[in-house]
Amino acid sequence: MALADTDTTTVNAVRPLAVVLFGSPGSGKGTQSKFLVRWLGIPQVSTGDMLREHVRTGTAIGKSIAARMKAGELVPDRLVNELVFERLSRPDCERGYILDGYPRTPEQAAEMLRVLGAAGTAEVVIHLVVDYNVIIARMAGRRVCPTCGTLYNAISNRPVQEGVCDLDGATLVVREDDRPEVVRARLNEYEALTRPVLESFRQAGVKLFEVNASDQAPQQVFEQIRAELASRGLTEPGLVEQSPAARGRTELVGK
Ligand SMILES: [Zn+2]
Repeated sequence: MALADTDTTTVNAVRPLAVVLFGSPGSGKGTQSKFLVRWLGIPQVSTGDMLREHVRTGTAIGKSIAARMKAGELVPDRLVNELVFERLSRPDCERGYILDGYPRTPEQAAEMLRVLGAAGTAEVVIHLVVDYNVIIARMAGRRVCPTCGTLYNAISNRPVQEGVCDLDGATLVVREDDRPEVVRARLNEYEALTRPVLESFRQAGVKLFEVNASDQAPQQVFEQIRAELASRGLTEPGLVEQSPAARGRTELVGK
C-alpha cells in the first residue's frame, strides 16, 4: 500500500482502527463481526470468547471467572479490561480490530477511551438497533439438536421435518439461553448496565452510527454498515491519516 509520492507531509501512516460493535443480546454482533473481519482484514476481539476460553482451559483467570459466574457475580471491569488490552497489544491488532461485547459497562468504556486515546487509535461505534420483541421471537424460534449440536431456526434454517434433526433424526430442543424468560432477563441487564455506554460514547464525541438490524437479513445489515464506514473513509485500517487536512479532522475525534 504505497502512499501518494506527492504527499510529503504524511506523518503517521499506521493508525489503528477500533470498530466497536454495539447492540443488545441477539442483535447479531457475532455475525456482523465475521463479515467485518473478512472485509477489513482485521481480527475480531470477543470478550465472551476470551472469557469462555479461559474457563475452558482452566487458567487462573478462568478459575476465578468460573467461581464468580457460579455465584451469580459479574466479571470485574478491571479483569475484563486487562484481558482486552493484553489481546489488543498483540501484533495482529496493529492495524486495527473489531470489538464484540466490549465495552459492556460505562467503566469499561471510560478505560477503553483513555487507553485508545493515548495510543492514537481511531474509533468508530456501530450500534445495531433491534426491536426486543423481534429478538425474543427470533430466539424462541431456535432449536438445537442434542445429539450433533446443529442449530435450526424457524426463519432461515428449518429442519425438513418439524422438530426433528435432518442429520440424525433426534428430537430438537430449545436451548436454555433461548428461553423467552432468560432472553428477557439478559435484555433487562443490557438496558440497565450496557446501554448507558452509548451515552459515554456520545459525551466523548466518538463517531457513532446506528443500523437497523431488526427486520433485515444479515447480509443486508452488513451492506448498510459497509456504506456507513465507506462514507467516513474508514475502509483501510491502519491507514487513516494521509494529509494534514484529514489529520485535523480525525484529531477532533475521541477526546
Ligand atoms: Zn442432529
